[in-house]
Amino acid sequence: MKIDVLTIFPGMFDAVLGESMIKRAQQKKKIRIKIHDLRDYTDDKRRTVDDKPFGGGPGMVLKVEPIYRAVKDITGNWGAKGNNKVVLLTPQGKRFDQKMAKRFSKLDRLLLISGHYEGTDERVKKIPVDYEISIGDYVLTCGELPAMVLIDCIARLIPGVLGDERSKINESFENGLLDYPQYTRPAVFRGMRVPDILLSGDHKKISKWRMDQALKKTKKTRPDLLKPKTE
Ligand code: SAM
Repeated sequence: MKIDVLTIFPGMFDAVLGESMIKRAQQKKKIRIKIHDLRDYTDDKRRTVDDKPFGGGPGMVLKVEPIYRAVKDITGNWGAKGNNKVVLLTPQGKRFDQKMAKRFSKLDRLLLISGHYEGTDERVKKIPVDYEISIGDYVLTCGELPAMVLIDCIARLIPGVLGDERSKINESFENGLLDYPQYTRPAVFRGMRVPDILLSGDHKKISKWRMDQALKKTKKTRPDLLKPKTE
């Protein structure tokens, strides 16, 4: 899979893409990530990417022309047959979740457009953009962090990226439940004991205990996950 990102702050991605799982995924050629500087698609000396909003109001708005040029350039060689999508990151978009991450992990190409300032000119959505996506009901200063969230979440779902593929089986949201509680050594820490069952070696009982715990935790903190889905 190849992910392209359009941004006015390419440097923000260095740490995230150059460390840990994402770094290894790129080294193993499981994923290719390319960061594009939106300013390279401007046509004036000052490399202007923003302007004042029509109708007045605070702040600046990312201009449509550089984004249009960039999207056309980046998607120009995608070909009609590939499973490719363009995503605009915006708090006004559909909320990103694990289900979406799974769908996206099967794409051939994905272009993520990061907004900034007061947002992007509304006409960007007609470039066209396939999805408008939000990472949650809160407002960040920029779309770079949401882009990194999507990249991380999608990359770990690509086969061969995680060290142990079994990690994905029981994790949160996988079966409509949160993950079960995890413990590691020492068995006792400041008087807090690891549940005896986990030290019993009885894998059938451990499995049942974990399922019960996952259900209990989900009921307590995320009862919404247990409600039947309307979609
Ligand atoms: N005026 C916009 C609004 O109220 O919807 C907020 C703009 S925000 C300050 C600037 C940029 O950050 C957005 O264009 C978007 O790319 C990104 N952003 C902020 N919060 C986000 C979120 N929850 N999900 C995805 N992108 C977000």
